[in-house]
Amino acid sequence: MTERQNSSVRPESAAVVILGAGPAGLTLGNLLHAHGIDCVVLERAERAALGTRARAGFLAANTVRTLERHGLADGLRRDGRPHGVCEFRTDDGRFRLDYGSLGHREQHTVYPQQDLVADLLAHYLDTGGRIAFGTEALAVHDADGTRPTVSARDAHGRPTRWRARYVAGCDGRHGAARRSLPPSALRHHRDHGVSWLGLLAQAPPSLDAVGYATHRGGFAGHMARTPEVTRYYLQCDRGTPADSWTDEQVWDLLDLRMRAAEHGPLRRGGIIGRTVVDLCSDVVEPLRHGSLLLAGDAASLVSPSAAKGANLAVLEAELLAEALVDDLAHGEPGALEQYSRRGLARIWRAQEFSHWMIRLLHTDPGTDGESFFHESMRRSRLESLRTSRAHQDWFAENYVGV
Ligand code: FAD
Repeated sequence: MTERQNSSVRPESAAVVILGAGPAGLTLGNLLHAHGIDCVVLERAERAALGTRARAGFLAANTVRTLERHGLADGLRRDGRPHGVCEFRTDDGRFRLDYGSLGHREQHTVYPQQDLVADLLAHYLDTGGRIAFGTEALAVHDADGTRPTVSARDAHGRPTRWRARYVAGCDGRHGAARRSLPPSALRHHRDHGVSWLGLLAQAPPSLDAVGYATHRGGFAGHMARTPEVTRYYLQCDRGTPADSWTDEQVWDLLDLRMRAAEHGPLRRGGIIGRTVVDLCSDVVEPLRHGSLLLAGDAASLVSPSAAKGANLAVLEAELLAEALVDDLAHGEPGALEQYSRRGLARIWRAQEFSHWMIRLLHTDPGTDGESFFHESMRRSRLESLRTSRAHQDWFAENYVGV
Protein backbone atom coordinates (compact mmCIF):
# COMPACT_ATOMS: atom_id res chain seq x y z
CA MET A 1 0.00 0.00 0.00
CA THR A 2 1.42 3.38 -0.91
CA GLU A 3 1.12 6.45 1.29
CA ARG A 4 -0.94 8.03 -1.55
CA GLN A 5 -3.47 5.16 -1.47
CA ASN A 6 -3.56 5.39 2.31
CA SER A 7 -4.14 9.12 2.46
CA SER A 8 -7.20 8.71 0.22
CA VAL A 9 -8.85 6.57 2.92
CA ARG A 10 -11.34 8.40 5.09
CA PRO A 11 -9.75 8.58 8.55
CA GLU A 12 -11.31 7.46 11.79
CA SER A 13 -10.36 9.40 14.87
CA ALA A 14 -9.66 9.30 18.59
CA ALA A 15 -7.96 11.72 20.97
CA VAL A 16 -5.25 9.13 21.62
CA VAL A 17 -4.39 6.33 19.20
CA ILE A 18 -2.42 3.62 21.03
CA LEU A 19 -0.24 1.34 18.91
CA GLY A 20 0.07 -2.17 20.37
CA ALA A 21 -1.88 -4.20 22.95
CA GLY A 22 0.96 -5.49 25.13
CA PRO A 23 1.33 -4.66 28.83
CA ALA A 24 2.14 -1.01 28.00
CA GLY A 25 -0.65 -0.36 25.48
CA LEU A 26 -3.37 -2.13 27.43
CA THR A 27 -2.46 -0.54 30.77
CA LEU A 28 -2.50 2.86 29.07
CA GLY A 29 -5.80 2.10 27.30
CA ASN A 30 -7.45 1.05 30.56
CA LEU A 31 -6.28 4.14 32.46
CA LEU A 32 -7.21 6.63 29.73
CA HIS A 33 -10.60 4.99 29.25
CA ALA A 34 -11.24 5.11 33.01
CA HIS A 35 -10.58 8.88 32.88
CA GLY A 36 -13.01 9.37 30.01
CA ILE A 37 -10.28 10.07 27.41
CA ASP A 38 -11.36 8.95 23.94
CA CYS A 39 -8.81 6.35 22.82
CA VAL A 40 -8.42 3.37 20.54
CA VAL A 41 -5.84 0.56 20.51
CA LEU A 42 -4.54 -0.74 17.15
CA GLU A 43 -3.15 -4.27 17.49
CA ARG A 44 -1.49 -6.25 14.73
CA ALA A 45 -2.38 -9.67 16.21
CA GLU A 46 -5.81 -11.24 16.22
CA ARG A 47 -7.53 -11.45 19.59
CA ALA A 48 -6.96 -15.21 20.02
CA ALA A 49 -3.19 -14.81 19.65
CA LEU A 50 -2.87 -12.02 22.21
CA GLY A 51 -3.05 -13.98 25.45
CA THR A 52 -0.68 -16.74 24.31
CA ARG A 53 2.77 -15.09 24.14
CA ALA A 54 4.75 -16.41 27.10
CA ARG A 55 7.51 -13.97 28.01
CA ALA A 56 7.83 -12.29 31.40
CA GLY A 57 6.60 -13.67 34.69
CA PHE A 58 8.11 -11.68 37.57
CA LEU A 59 6.13 -8.62 38.56
CA ALA A 60 7.78 -6.15 40.92
CA ALA A 61 5.96 -4.93 44.03
CA ASN A 62 5.61 -1.45 42.53
CA THR A 63 4.03 -2.90 39.38
CA VAL A 64 1.54 -4.90 41.43
CA ARG A 65 0.65 -1.84 43.52
CA THR A 66 0.10 0.16 40.32
CA LEU A 67 -2.21 -2.46 38.86
CA GLU A 68 -4.06 -2.78 42.18
CA ARG A 69 -4.52 1.00 42.40
CA HIS A 70 -6.41 0.94 39.11
CA GLY A 71 -8.48 -2.19 39.71
CA LEU A 72 -6.43 -4.25 37.24
CA ALA A 73 -5.01 -6.84 39.62
CA ASP A 74 -7.86 -9.30 40.27
CA GLY A 75 -6.23 -12.12 38.27
CA LEU A 76 -2.75 -11.73 39.71
CA ARG A 77 -4.13 -11.39 43.24
CA ARG A 78 -6.05 -14.62 42.74
CA ASP A 79 -3.44 -16.71 40.88
CA GLY A 80 -0.10 -14.93 41.36
CA ARG A 81 2.40 -16.36 43.84
CA PRO A 82 4.75 -14.33 46.03
CA HIS A 83 8.44 -14.96 45.43
CA GLY A 84 11.40 -13.60 47.38
CA VAL A 85 14.46 -15.86 47.15
CA CYS A 86 17.24 -16.29 44.61
CA GLU A 87 20.13 -18.72 44.60
CA PHE A 88 23.55 -18.29 43.00
CA ARG A 89 25.48 -21.40 41.98
CA THR A 90 29.17 -21.09 41.18
CA ASP A 91 32.39 -23.12 41.20
CA ASP A 92 32.77 -22.04 44.84
CA GLY A 93 29.43 -23.51 45.93
CA ARG A 94 26.01 -21.90 46.23
CA PHE A 95 24.42 -19.20 48.32
CA ARG A 96 20.87 -17.91 48.69
CA LEU A 97 19.58 -14.37 49.10
CA ASP A 98 16.24 -14.02 50.81
CA TYR A 99 15.70 -10.73 48.99
CA GLY A 100 12.11 -10.50 50.21
CA SER A 101 13.45 -9.77 53.70
CA LEU A 102 16.28 -7.47 52.54
CA GLY A 103 16.28 -3.87 51.27
CA HIS A 104 12.70 -2.58 51.23
CA ARG A 105 11.45 -6.11 52.11
CA GLU A 106 9.50 -6.40 48.88
CA GLN A 107 8.74 -9.52 46.90
CA HIS A 108 7.95 -10.37 43.31
CA THR A 109 4.61 -11.79 42.26
CA VAL A 110 5.01 -14.63 39.78
CA TYR A 111 2.28 -14.25 37.18
CA PRO A 112 2.78 -15.10 33.49
CA GLN A 113 2.76 -12.10 31.14
CA GLN A 114 0.21 -13.74 28.83
CA ASP A 115 -2.24 -13.98 31.75
CA LEU A 116 -1.66 -10.33 32.63
CA VAL A 117 -2.28 -9.32 29.00
CA ALA A 118 -5.47 -11.44 28.94
CA ASP A 119 -6.68 -9.74 32.17
CA LEU A 120 -5.91 -6.23 30.91
CA LEU A 121 -7.65 -6.95 27.62
CA ALA A 122 -10.74 -8.43 29.30
CA HIS A 123 -11.02 -5.41 31.60
CA TYR A 124 -10.60 -2.98 28.71
CA LEU A 125 -13.26 -4.67 26.60
CA ASP A 126 -15.66 -5.21 29.54
CA THR A 127 -15.57 -1.50 30.31
CA GLY A 128 -16.27 -0.58 26.67
CA GLY A 129 -12.72 0.14 25.45
CA ARG A 130 -12.16 0.36 21.67
CA ILE A 131 -9.61 -1.90 19.99
CA ALA A 132 -8.95 -2.85 16.36
CA PHE A 133 -7.45 -6.36 16.22
CA GLY A 134 -5.57 -7.58 13.17
CA THR A 135 -4.61 -3.98 12.39
CA GLU A 136 -0.97 -3.27 11.70
CA ALA A 137 0.20 0.32 12.07
CA LEU A 138 2.56 1.19 9.22
CA ALA A 139 3.68 4.71 10.06
CA VAL A 140 2.91 7.80 12.11
CA HIS A 141 2.66 10.95 9.97
CA ASP A 142 2.92 14.63 10.94
CA ALA A 143 3.96 13.82 14.49
CA ASP A 144 5.55 17.27 14.80
CA GLY A 145 2.12 18.90 14.41
CA THR A 146 -1.05 18.73 16.48
CA ARG A 147 -3.03 16.45 14.12
CA PRO A 148 -0.89 13.36 13.56
CA THR A 149 -2.27 10.44 11.58
CA VAL A 150 -1.50 6.76 11.64
CA SER A 151 -1.57 4.76 8.43
CA ALA A 152 -2.41 1.10 8.93
CA ARG A 153 -3.76 -1.97 7.21
CA ASP A 154 -6.46 -4.25 8.50
CA ALA A 155 -6.50 -8.06 8.61
CA HIS A 156 -7.64 -8.17 4.94
CA GLY A 157 -4.77 -5.95 3.85
CA ARG A 158 -7.10 -2.96 3.34
CA PRO A 159 -5.66 0.48 4.15
CA THR A 160 -7.03 2.32 7.17
CA ARG A 161 -6.14 5.68 8.62
CA TRP A 162 -6.49 7.15 12.10
CA ARG A 163 -6.35 10.80 13.11
CA ALA A 164 -5.46 11.71 16.68
CA ARG A 165 -4.28 14.45 19.00
CA TYR A 166 -1.61 12.11 20.36
CA VAL A 167 -0.20 8.77 19.25
CA ALA A 168 1.17 6.46 21.95
CA GLY A 169 3.81 4.10 20.55
CA CYS A 170 3.49 0.92 22.65
CA ASP A 171 4.21 -1.43 19.75
CA GLY A 172 7.56 -2.78 20.88
CA ARG A 173 11.03 -2.58 19.52
CA HIS A 174 10.19 -3.27 15.86
CA GLY A 175 6.93 -1.33 15.68
CA ALA A 176 5.75 1.61 13.58
CA ALA A 177 6.41 4.17 16.33
CA ARG A 178 10.16 3.55 16.30
CA ARG A 179 10.21 3.57 12.49
CA SER A 180 8.49 6.96 12.51
CA LEU A 181 10.88 8.75 14.85
CA PRO A 182 12.37 12.00 13.56
CA PRO A 183 16.11 12.11 12.80
CA SER A 184 16.61 14.21 15.94
CA ALA A 185 15.66 11.27 18.20
CA LEU A 186 18.65 9.89 20.08
CA ARG A 187 18.99 6.14 20.18
CA HIS A 188 21.41 4.67 22.70
CA HIS A 189 22.17 1.10 21.75
CA ARG A 190 24.49 -1.30 23.57
CA ASP A 191 24.99 -4.89 22.46
CA HIS A 192 26.22 -6.87 25.47
CA GLY A 193 27.63 -9.53 23.13
CA VAL A 194 25.84 -12.33 24.95
CA SER A 195 22.92 -14.50 23.79
CA TRP A 196 20.53 -16.66 25.77
CA LEU A 197 18.36 -19.50 24.61
CA GLY A 198 15.09 -18.88 26.47
CA LEU A 199 13.25 -22.13 27.14
CA LEU A 200 9.83 -22.95 28.51
CA ALA A 201 9.63 -26.41 30.02
CA GLN A 202 6.47 -28.35 30.73
CA ALA A 203 7.89 -29.21 34.13
CA PRO A 204 7.37 -27.97 37.69
CA PRO A 205 10.05 -25.63 39.08
CA SER A 206 13.10 -27.48 40.39
CA LEU A 207 14.06 -24.87 43.00
CA ASP A 208 12.01 -22.73 45.38
CA ALA A 209 14.20 -19.82 44.19
CA VAL A 210 15.27 -18.01 41.06
CA GLY A 211 18.42 -19.91 40.09
CA TYR A 212 21.46 -18.17 38.58
CA ALA A 213 24.33 -20.49 37.68
CA THR A 214 27.65 -19.17 36.44
CA HIS A 215 29.72 -21.79 34.65
CA ARG A 216 32.76 -21.77 32.37
CA GLY A 217 30.56 -23.29 29.66
CA GLY A 218 28.08 -20.43 29.99
CA PHE A 219 25.28 -19.08 32.18
CA ALA A 220 22.16 -21.07 33.08
CA GLY A 221 19.04 -19.69 34.75
CA HIS A 222 15.87 -21.06 36.34
CA MET A 223 12.68 -19.08 36.96
CA ALA A 224 9.31 -20.38 38.10
CA ARG A 225 6.28 -19.55 35.98
CA THR A 226 3.39 -21.77 37.13
CA PRO A 227 3.29 -25.02 39.16
CA GLU A 228 3.48 -26.88 35.82
CA VAL A 229 5.73 -24.65 33.69
CA THR A 230 9.26 -23.35 34.30
CA ARG A 231 11.43 -20.94 32.34
CA TYR A 232 15.09 -21.79 31.87
CA TYR A 233 17.86 -19.88 30.14
CA LEU A 234 21.05 -21.24 28.60
CA GLN A 235 23.77 -18.93 27.37
CA CYS A 236 24.60 -19.80 23.76
CA ASP A 237 26.88 -18.52 21.02
CA ARG A 238 25.57 -15.60 18.98
CA GLY A 239 23.66 -16.90 15.93
CA THR A 240 22.80 -20.29 17.50
CA PRO A 241 19.48 -21.48 16.03
CA ALA A 242 16.83 -22.04 18.71
CA ASP A 243 16.44 -25.71 17.74
CA SER A 244 20.14 -26.58 17.62
CA TRP A 245 19.96 -28.75 20.77
CA THR A 246 17.54 -31.64 21.31
CA ASP A 247 15.43 -31.59 24.47
CA GLU A 248 17.78 -34.14 26.01
CA GLN A 249 20.85 -32.06 25.19
CA VAL A 250 19.13 -29.03 26.71
CA TRP A 251 18.47 -30.88 29.98
CA ASP A 252 21.99 -32.32 30.06
CA LEU A 253 23.45 -28.83 29.64
CA LEU A 254 21.13 -27.41 32.31
CA ASP A 255 22.13 -30.24 34.67
CA LEU A 256 25.80 -29.55 34.04
CA ARG A 257 25.71 -25.77 34.41
CA MET A 258 23.29 -25.80 37.36
CA ARG A 259 25.45 -28.49 38.97
CA ALA A 260 22.58 -30.91 39.44
CA ALA A 261 24.97 -33.67 40.57
CA GLU A 262 25.98 -31.52 43.54
CA HIS A 263 22.77 -29.64 44.35
CA GLY A 264 19.97 -32.00 43.27
CA PRO A 265 18.35 -33.04 39.98
CA LEU A 266 16.25 -30.79 37.78
CA ARG A 267 12.68 -31.87 37.11
CA ARG A 268 12.61 -32.64 33.40
CA GLY A 269 9.73 -32.28 30.95
CA GLY A 270 9.01 -31.41 27.33
CA ILE A 271 10.46 -28.14 26.00
CA ILE A 272 7.39 -26.21 24.81
CA GLY A 273 8.99 -22.90 23.87
CA ARG A 274 12.37 -21.75 22.57
CA THR A 275 13.53 -18.20 21.77
CA VAL A 276 17.02 -16.87 21.30
CA VAL A 277 17.50 -13.46 22.93
CA ASP A 278 20.56 -11.34 22.10
CA LEU A 279 21.13 -9.32 25.25
CA CYS A 280 21.17 -5.63 24.46
CA SER A 281 20.08 -2.30 25.87
CA ASP A 282 18.35 0.26 23.75
CA VAL A 283 16.92 3.60 24.88
CA VAL A 284 15.24 6.31 22.81
CA GLU A 285 15.56 9.89 24.08
CA PRO A 286 13.36 11.79 24.64
CA LEU A 287 10.16 9.76 25.09
CA ARG A 288 8.16 12.56 23.46
CA HIS A 289 8.54 13.60 19.82
CA GLY A 290 5.83 16.19 19.21
CA SER A 291 2.57 14.26 19.25
CA LEU A 292 4.25 10.86 19.32
CA LEU A 293 4.94 9.37 22.76
CA LEU A 294 6.80 6.17 23.51
CA ALA A 295 6.30 3.61 26.29
CA GLY A 296 7.39 0.04 27.04
CA ASP A 297 9.78 -1.75 24.69
CA ALA A 298 9.20 0.96 22.07
CA ALA A 299 10.85 3.40 24.49
CA SER A 300 13.56 1.14 25.81
CA LEU A 301 14.65 -2.42 25.48
CA VAL A 302 16.21 -3.88 28.58
CA SER A 303 17.85 -7.30 28.63
CA PRO A 304 15.90 -9.99 30.54
CA SER A 305 18.82 -10.42 32.99
CA ALA A 306 16.94 -8.58 35.75
CA ALA A 307 13.32 -9.11 34.62
CA LYS A 308 12.54 -5.41 34.18
CA GLY A 309 10.90 -5.06 30.74
CA ALA A 310 7.26 -5.84 31.50
CA ASN A 311 7.48 -3.92 34.76
CA LEU A 312 8.80 -0.81 33.06
CA ALA A 313 6.04 -1.15 30.45
CA VAL A 314 3.27 -1.02 33.09
CA LEU A 315 4.90 1.77 35.12
CA GLU A 316 5.58 3.95 32.08
CA ALA A 317 2.00 3.44 30.93
CA GLU A 318 0.76 4.81 34.25
CA LEU A 319 3.08 7.82 34.05
CA LEU A 320 2.01 8.46 30.46
CA ALA A 321 -1.68 8.14 31.30
CA GLU A 322 -1.30 10.71 34.09
CA ALA A 323 0.50 13.11 31.72
CA LEU A 324 -2.06 12.67 28.94
CA VAL A 325 -4.97 13.25 31.35
CA ASP A 326 -3.22 16.37 32.69
CA ASP A 327 -2.68 17.61 29.13
CA LEU A 328 -6.02 16.68 27.55
CA ALA A 329 -8.42 17.07 30.47
CA HIS A 330 -6.73 19.84 32.48
CA GLY A 331 -4.73 21.67 29.79
CA GLU A 332 -1.54 21.47 31.85
CA PRO A 333 1.45 22.55 29.79
CA GLY A 334 4.64 20.63 30.42
CA ALA A 335 2.96 17.41 31.62
CA LEU A 336 4.25 15.42 28.65
CA GLU A 337 7.83 16.74 28.95
CA GLN A 338 7.69 15.68 32.56
CA TYR A 339 6.59 12.23 31.43
CA SER A 340 9.73 11.96 29.34
CA ARG A 341 12.00 13.09 32.19
CA ARG A 342 10.44 10.84 34.81
CA GLY A 343 10.20 7.85 32.47
CA LEU A 344 13.82 8.14 31.38
CA ALA A 345 15.09 8.36 34.97
CA ARG A 346 13.36 5.06 35.72
CA ILE A 347 14.56 3.48 32.47
CA TRP A 348 18.21 4.33 33.11
CA ARG A 349 17.99 2.96 36.65
CA ALA A 350 16.68 -0.35 35.28
CA GLN A 351 19.33 -0.34 32.55
CA GLU A 352 22.13 0.19 35.04
CA PHE A 353 21.00 -2.68 37.25
CA SER A 354 20.42 -5.03 34.30
CA HIS A 355 23.90 -4.18 33.01
CA TRP A 356 25.33 -4.95 36.46
CA MET A 357 23.52 -8.31 36.44
CA ILE A 358 24.93 -9.16 33.02
CA ARG A 359 28.46 -8.51 34.29
CA LEU A 360 27.75 -10.63 37.35
CA LEU A 361 26.28 -13.65 35.56
CA HIS A 362 28.64 -14.28 32.66
CA THR A 363 32.11 -15.73 33.08
CA ASP A 364 34.92 -14.56 30.84
CA PRO A 365 36.41 -17.80 29.47
CA GLY A 366 39.42 -16.11 27.85
CA THR A 367 42.96 -16.91 29.01
CA ASP A 368 44.66 -13.52 28.49
CA GLY A 369 45.34 -10.89 31.14
CA GLU A 370 42.25 -8.85 30.30
CA SER A 371 39.95 -11.87 30.78
CA PHE A 372 41.67 -12.76 34.05
CA PHE A 373 41.10 -9.19 35.28
CA HIS A 374 37.40 -9.21 34.38
CA GLU A 375 36.85 -12.66 35.82
CA SER A 376 38.56 -11.69 39.10
CA MET A 377 36.39 -8.56 39.35
CA ARG A 378 33.26 -10.62 38.72
CA ARG A 379 34.13 -13.18 41.39
CA SER A 380 34.95 -10.47 43.88
CA ARG A 381 31.59 -8.80 43.19
CA LEU A 382 29.81 -12.10 43.77
CA GLU A 383 31.73 -12.65 47.01
CA SER A 384 30.78 -9.20 48.22
CA LEU A 385 27.13 -10.00 47.44
CA ARG A 386 27.45 -13.24 49.42
CA THR A 387 28.98 -11.62 52.50
CA SER A 388 28.00 -7.94 52.71
CA ARG A 389 24.60 -7.08 54.17
CA ALA A 390 24.83 -3.57 52.68
CA HIS A 391 25.46 -5.03 49.23
CA GLN A 392 22.56 -7.46 49.68
CA ASP A 393 20.19 -4.63 50.65
CA TRP A 394 21.24 -2.68 47.56
CA PHE A 395 20.69 -5.79 45.42
CA ALA A 396 17.22 -6.41 46.87
CA GLU A 397 16.13 -2.80 46.36
CA ASN A 398 17.17 -2.85 42.74
CA TYR A 399 16.11 -6.42 41.99
CA VAL A 400 12.49 -6.01 43.10
CA GLY A 401 12.21 -2.26 42.67
CA VAL A 402 11.74 -0.41 39.42
P1 FAD B 1 4.98 -6.01 23.75
O1 FAD B 1 4.63 -6.93 24.88
O2 FAD B 1 5.99 -6.47 22.76
O3 FAD B 1 3.65 -5.60 23.03
C1 FAD B 1 3.66 -4.88 21.82
C2 FAD B 1 2.37 -5.16 21.08
O4 FAD B 1 2.37 -4.38 19.88
C3 FAD B 1 2.23 -6.61 20.64
O5 FAD B 1 0.96 -7.09 21.00
C4 FAD B 1 2.43 -6.58 19.14
O6 FAD B 1 1.68 -7.57 18.46
C5 FAD B 1 1.94 -5.18 18.80
N1 FAD B 1 2.52 -4.60 17.59
C6 FAD B 1 3.81 -4.66 17.16
N2 FAD B 1 3.96 -3.98 16.03
C7 FAD B 1 2.76 -3.46 15.73
C8 FAD B 1 2.28 -2.65 14.67
N3 FAD B 1 3.10 -2.20 13.71
N4 FAD B 1 0.97 -2.29 14.67
C9 FAD B 1 0.13 -2.72 15.65
N5 FAD B 1 0.53 -3.51 16.66
C10 FAD B 1 1.84 -3.86 16.70
N6 FAD B 1 10.22 -8.70 31.35
C11 FAD B 1 10.05 -8.76 32.69
O7 FAD B 1 9.68 -7.74 33.30
N7 FAD B 1 10.26 -9.91 33.39
C12 FAD B 1 10.66 -11.07 32.79
O8 FAD B 1 10.81 -12.10 33.46
C13 FAD B 1 10.85 -11.05 31.34
N8 FAD B 1 11.20 -12.16 30.67
C14 FAD B 1 11.28 -12.11 29.29
C15 FAD B 1 11.61 -13.28 28.62
C16 FAD B 1 11.71 -13.27 27.21
C17 FAD B 1 12.07 -14.54 26.49
C18 FAD B 1 11.46 -12.06 26.49
C19 FAD B 1 11.56 -12.03 25.00
C20 FAD B 1 11.13 -10.91 27.18
C21 FAD B 1 11.05 -10.92 28.58
N9 FAD B 1 10.72 -9.76 29.30
C22 FAD B 1 10.60 -9.80 30.66
C23 FAD B 1 10.47 -8.50 28.59
C24 FAD B 1 8.98 -8.22 28.44
O9 FAD B 1 8.32 -9.35 27.88
C25 FAD B 1 8.76 -6.99 27.53
O10 FAD B 1 9.55 -5.95 28.04
C26 FAD B 1 7.28 -6.56 27.50
O11 FAD B 1 6.53 -7.46 26.73
C27 FAD B 1 7.13 -5.14 26.92
O12 FAD B 1 5.77 -4.82 26.83
P2 FAD B 1 5.26 -3.83 25.67
O13 FAD B 1 3.80 -3.66 25.91
O14 FAD B 1 6.11 -2.63 25.61
O15 FAD B 1 5.55 -4.60 24.32
